[in-house]
Amino acid sequence: MLVDSHCHIDFPELADKLDSVFDLMRANQVERALCVSVTLKDFPRVRGLAETYPHIHASVGVHPDHEDVAAVTGAELVELARHPRVVAIGETGLDYYRLKGDLEWQRERFRTHIRAARESGKPLIIHTREAAEDTLRIMREEGAGKAGGVMHCFTESWEAAQAAMDMGFYISFSGIVTFKNAKALKEVARRVPLENMLIETDAPYLAPVPHRGKTNQPGYVRHVADAIASIKGVGFDRVGQVTTYNFKQLFNVI
Ligand SMILES: [Zn+2]
Ligand SMILES: [Zn+2]
Repeated sequence: MLVDSHCHIDFPELADKLDSVFDLMRANQVERALCVSVTLKDFPRVRGLAETYPHIHASVGVHPDHEDVAAVTGAELVELARHPRVVAIGETGLDYYRLKGDLEWQRERFRTHIRAARESGKPLIIHTREAAEDTLRIMREEGAGKAGGVMHCFTESWEAAQAAMDMGFYISFSGIVTFKNAKALKEVARRVPLENMLIETDAPYLAPVPHRGKTNQPGYVRHVADAIASIKGVGFDRVGQVTTYNFKQLFNVI
C-alpha cells in the first residue's frame, strides 16, 4: 500500500475528474492522499473533500507564492486546524524562486504558521525553494522541531536534508526523483534513511516519468516509490510499507 503525502486534487485540473483519479489510486494501491491547502479561500473545498472521502485528508495553510491574499493570523489557523480531518498546517515556507524583492512578509507568514502548528499540536508541511538557509534558520528560531513535519517536494542539498532531519522533520520526495537529470537529488534520496522519508506527487504538477509533462495525479505516486526502491536498492513493497507507516506516524492517522 502507498500514500500520496502531498497533492492538490481540489485544483481544477483534477477536481472535475475525481472518479477516475480515485480509480487510478485504487488500481495502483494508493490507499490515501493528503490534499494540501494553499489559500484560506480554497480551504473549505479542501476540507469538504476530506469530509466526503475517508481516504482523503486535509491541511490548512497559505502557500508562500500567494502574495495577494490577506494576511493570515495564527488564531485563524489554529481554529481551522481543530477540525478532526485536518491533519497538518501548511503548506507554508519560503519561495525565493517564484517571487523576488522584499519577501519579509513571506518570512513573517512562515513564522505565523510555525507558531500555529506548535499551538495546535499538528505538524507542518514546509515548502522551500532556493531559500533553504532562511527556511532552516526560521525553523530553528521558531522551534519548529516541537511541531515536527515534512519538507515537501524536497530539492535541496544533503546538508539541508540533514539539518531538517536533525529537527525531527521527514523528507518528502516527488516525481522529480524519476527525472533523468536529477542526479544530485537521487543522491540525496539514496542517503536519506527510508525511516525519515515520505513520498508524494504534488499533483497536478510534476508528473513522474513515464507521465512527465502530463497532468499528475495521486495514483502516480507509485512511480516515485519505484524510483526510490531502485535508488536505494530495496524492494518496492518495503518502500510502500515504511513510507506509509511514516505518514501515519507523522499525521497521527490510523
Ligand atoms: Zn509546495
Ligand atoms: Zn503543493
